[in-house]
Amino acid sequence: MMFPKQTIQLTTNGKPVKVHLVSTGAVSVKTKFRNARYKSLPAMIDFILDKTFTEWMPIWVMVIEHPEGVFVIDTGENSDINNPDYFNSSGMFAKWFDTTQFKFKVSRDEEIDQQLIDLSIAVADVKAVVLTHLHLDHIDGLRHFPSTEIIVNKYEWEKPFGDLPKLYPSWFKPTLIELNEQYDVFEHTQYLTKSKDLILIQTPGHTYGHCSLLLKADECNIFFAADVCYSQEQLIEEKYSGSNASYPLAKDSYDKVQTYAKMQKIVFIPSHDADAGRRLNELDPLLLKK
Ligand SMILES: [Zn+2]
Repeated sequence: MMFPKQTIQLTTNGKPVKVHLVSTGAVSVKTKFRNARYKSLPAMIDFILDKTFTEWMPIWVMVIEHPEGVFVIDTGENSDINNPDYFNSSGMFAKWFDTTQFKFKVSRDEEIDQQLIDLSIAVADVKAVVLTHLHLDHIDGLRHFPSTEIIVNKYEWEKPFGDLPKLYPSWFKPTLIELNEQYDVFEHTQYLTKSKDLILIQTPGHTYGHCSLLLKADECNIFFAADVCYSQEQLIEEKYSGSNASYPLAKDSYDKVQTYAKMQKIVFIPSHDADAGRRLNELDPLLLKK
């Protein structure tokens, strides 16, 4: 495995909670897709013309063994992605885009079902799968959870951006939840546990209804940021990727995460940040410059 799994034992309200980070394979994108020089259409033209790809990056899935049950945050990629025909049902543009702008390397044993076996967690024991957004590298492991409750932000479902619904399992009918609670600086959130220590937070920009997941452990806060940015560095430097549904929303999400991180100790985990495993392991918090 290119990105070894990480496990940390914490407590929440005095009870044990285990957090695992497993990578369901690897992804590489155009260098100027990850770090854009422009915004919107000029950014898109810039990365399409770009001939250089980034190094391999992880596709993290977070598994939380919580006192109220096991939560799986995102489902990662599956190994069918290695076959270009995987995109046939999504049309020519999607096939061209997803096979020329991205590279994937996923083996069968890196898929989330195999990783759960490795963690001695039965799929039947998963209380809920929580999706941060509907992009394929976050939903392609859904096939392993046909009988599990799948939680999606209602707004993400109603106003998706860049999703490929033809790749959804035919049975996919998520539980849609409205994020209408204020939590700290975040206006659209919802508690996922009775103990109010697991919070789904709308952090839009990458998609309109993109979410992050916050675990408030006794030791620190684990902030699974999904695709808010590619790396912690990108947030600190306030750099943006080449694909956002809305740049003003992306900036607003950066501002809010930064404001929160100045007041609370958070370990910051973007889905494709290779260093996030080490930070989780060492509980290395996000430190901002100013
Ligand atoms: Zn995404």
